[in-house]
Amino acid sequence: MNPSSDLLKKYNVPGPRYTSYPTVPYWDLSPTAEQWVSSIAQALKEGEAEGVGAALYVHIPFCESLCTYCGCNTRITRNRSVGVPYVQTVLKEWELYLQKLGRGPSAPVPVSEIHLGGGTPTFLEPGELRQLMEGLLRSLKRVDGAEFSVEADPRVTRREHLAVLAELGFRRLSLGIQDFDSRVQDVVNRVQSEAQVREVTEVARSLGYDSVNYDLIYGLPFQTLDSIRETIEAVRRLKPDRIAFYAYAHVPWIKPSQRRFTEADLPAGDQKRALYELGREMLEEAGYREVGMDHFALETDSLWKASQGRTLHRNFMGYTARQVAPLIGLGVSAIGDSWRVFAQNEKLLETYQSRVEKGEIPLLRGHVLNDEDLVIRRHVLNLMCRMETRWDSREFYTEYLESVPGRLEELAQDELLQADRYSVKVSEKGRAFLRNVCMAFDARLARQAPQTQLFSKTI
Ligand code: SF4
Repeated sequence: MNPSSDLLKKYNVPGPRYTSYPTVPYWDLSPTAEQWVSSIAQALKEGEAEGVGAALYVHIPFCESLCTYCGCNTRITRNRSVGVPYVQTVLKEWELYLQKLGRGPSAPVPVSEIHLGGGTPTFLEPGELRQLMEGLLRSLKRVDGAEFSVEADPRVTRREHLAVLAELGFRRLSLGIQDFDSRVQDVVNRVQSEAQVREVTEVARSLGYDSVNYDLIYGLPFQTLDSIRETIEAVRRLKPDRIAFYAYAHVPWIKPSQRRFTEADLPAGDQKRALYELGREMLEEAGYREVGMDHFALETDSLWKASQGRTLHRNFMGYTARQVAPLIGLGVSAIGDSWRVFAQNEKLLETYQSRVEKGEIPLLRGHVLNDEDLVIRRHVLNLMCRMETRWDSREFYTEYLESVPGRLEELAQDELLQADRYSVKVSEKGRAFLRNVCMAFDARLARQAPQTQLFSKTI
């Protein structure tokens, strides 16, 4: 359902994407390495009892050149000699976990998902990817239906990369596309043709990858309705199985590379959202179904099936087709999640490497969730994945929730949701405003920034 432009204007307030609750700025109780590892041990034990495995996220930070919109933790280099030492450090970090968990080849860790992200995982040579994966797989045991996925840059990915990973069990590929318009590609310093993307997509399919995802961004400099139309036309010709269609976040004070363009070059406010709405309509016409927030999938893809089977999950990797327990992040800046504890690794490559060399789990920061966080986290996850939640049982209740129905009144009047004292159900019209709904549940936001509004008072 297409929300009216008045509603888009009214609810166009900045808000988190809720890949975690509490969101990172509100983390205030960092775990010790011992607390973090023991929370992983507990999550593994609980997961094993239910046949659920862990997820491993491995961050490869290297990229050959910097895309000016990039918000990731990267190290820009063309020096390929950094690959082997980095792989060795990640394997050493994994070894530290195994020692502390009392695991190894004779007591392997059950795994439901492995995701190689970055940066650019295919910056590594195929042999380095093999070394990394074989090192990890020695002490892992795949649970039924385990999914291995990799992010790749079409400009540097060769058949050999994809072939090695396919041999090791990878069946999902995610390609960074962002936009096909040449003027936009030029200003964001990421020039790649439709033919290049087609070739990587077709090679992957011929090697047995059964789910190809494209990442697109709306709100980039010089994007217009016409340029988005052309980009989505190209995407429809290439027919990926999944699409993530994210909003560009302009934070030049954190990411100076974004100073290559100015705010005047960016589509603003409802113009920006109109780009999304056009893309969404065109994707739906082509048979894609909207999943959660900012994601689309063909009905044959596991993400759509998960949303229908109510197993959809959300974590730092975005939406995933199933719950995992726990998520262990390896590599510089990687974030882990044991449900009760979040933990992020050192963000500076040299510091990360030297701490692992010293035999330390290289945590930079994290958060130990309190009882209220754990309850609210469950509701935020329900909303982001299932668009409804309820708290009429003791397990899902915390006092803060008493204030939520009042905070949602305006959204209910606009028919974006139905709410009563103990439950909320977001309507299809309200899907575009899931962030605003989650903000009503965000107790930390309410306490630390009480002036924050869920909608603009001036409309
Ligand atoms: S390839 Fe990806 S991670 Fe690397 S700079 Fe570009 S957007 Fe950032």
